[in-house]
Amino acid sequence: MTAKAKDIDQLWYKDGLRFTCTQCGRCCGGAPGFVWVNAKEISAMARAMDMDDETFCHKFVRQVGNRRSLTEYPDGDCIFLDPQTRHCMVYSARPIQCRTWPFWDSNLRTEEDWEDTCQSCPGAGKGKLHNIEKIETARKEKRV
Ligand code: SF4
Repeated sequence: MTAKAKDIDQLWYKDGLRFTCTQCGRCCGGAPGFVWVNAKEISAMARAMDMDDETFCHKFVRQVGNRRSLTEYPDGDCIFLDPQTRHCMVYSARPIQCRTWPFWDSNLRTEEDWEDTCQSCPGAGKGKLHNIEKIETARKEKRV
């Protein structure tokens, strides 16, 4: 067994995890938080909204230290969570952080962390079985 295969074999979720999004919008709202975005992600969303990057940043991006995050409504909902439909308004161009949910470092650290995630996300722990390779690719794409 290679060192890499051995490392994977020791992960508590080595047999994969289930997740199918129900599109409830809960992960995009509620408590205030951050959706970290880089220049490439900003450009993709700006294009999807038919805007230039500068106008997009002015309207939808805030500076947090040396990083940038999408703005929120006062109740903590993401600015792109449609208040009526509860669907994402930039879904096809959504940032990596959104695309890799729920396979984040913070959700996978322990089985208890994953159970907490399943409590807050009705799609986690159910539905499609994602294999370890796919989970690890998502987890490492952006450390959240
Ligand atoms: S909370 Fe879970 S099920 Fe609901 S939209 Fe987010 S990922 Fe999908």
